[in-house]
Amino acid sequence: MKWEDLRRSSNVEDRRGMGSPGRGGGSLPSGSGGGGIINILLMLLMSRGKGKWLIIGLLVLFMVAGGGSALFGGGGTTSTEYGNSGVVFEDTTQKAEQGDQVTDAEGEFLSVVLANTEDYWTQHFAENNLQYTPPKLVLYTEGTNTGGCGIGSSSAGPFYCPADQTVYIDVSFYRDLSQKYGAPGDFAMAYVLAHEVGHHVQQLLGTMDDYQKTIQQNPSIKNELSVRVELQADYYAGGWSKYVEEQGILEEGDIEEALQAAFAVGDDTLQKESYGYVVPDSFTHGTSAQRQEWFSRGYKYAGDFEQADTFSQSIE
Ligand SMILES: [Zn+2]
Repeated sequence: MKWEDLRRSSNVEDRRGMGSPGRGGGSLPSGSGGGGIINILLMLLMSRGKGKWLIIGLLVLFMVAGGGSALFGGGGTTSTEYGNSGVVFEDTTQKAEQGDQVTDAEGEFLSVVLANTEDYWTQHFAENNLQYTPPKLVLYTEGTNTGGCGIGSSSAGPFYCPADQTVYIDVSFYRDLSQKYGAPGDFAMAYVLAHEVGHHVQQLLGTMDDYQKTIQQNPSIKNELSVRVELQADYYAGGWSKYVEEQGILEEGDIEEALQAAFAVGDDTLQKESYGYVVPDSFTHGTSAQRQEWFSRGYKYAGDFEQADTFSQSIE
């Protein structure tokens, strides 16, 4: 994909290098949000205990080592501006680091892909008399807090959290794709992000809610329904790929890279962990062949909603 000169998204939050919320910080009070460790330090400084300097030293070491950064990134409310639409919303669940600049090639690439999906889906929704609100993308390493889907862990791969409408990606998955799963190339990673954005589209269209309600009533069909949700996200990723081609920025071999990735992350190849409430990537995805088939259909029909029904037809 010829991406270097394209628009970057303003909906990316870079949390890489902030450490894991599950480590180190667990034993310290975090209820007070960012002030947790600072408060402890102040209390210790005012106290008379003989061992206070040792504890203060250890706490400072802990902070310098980065172990407490997740605590400091905790609360807070900021507003974020969407790139094109001019819509401003208040985000009360996650703190967006203002002025975050993604400057490495992998981060920049994902930012461009996200921006391009924003353009595509804004246009595609408008054509169907719908309004698109883009998801956020959080880049992280090891683990990170989500706004309603527990702690995201990189061992589980990229995922979408419907509760905070955010895609979470540990960029090291890029290397996993090429080295572990045999799906190299930039468009393999682009497909992965476009698939997660596909889940966001499902969230906006009510598909996620329908899915959740249906499996609550009938838990026995959860796996089958989950496959259909996943295949539809692949279909949407294929639709976006067609849009990339129409812009003249698709490179030779890109679609093959996406198809290889769709194959590599099929159920029979990749297992993922559970996050609790509605993260379909925790469940069943369909076989590699099914995933390739529905990605190809999305590409063929340019993401046409009329052709996107993976629920009421055979998915063999
Ligand atoms: Zn998925």
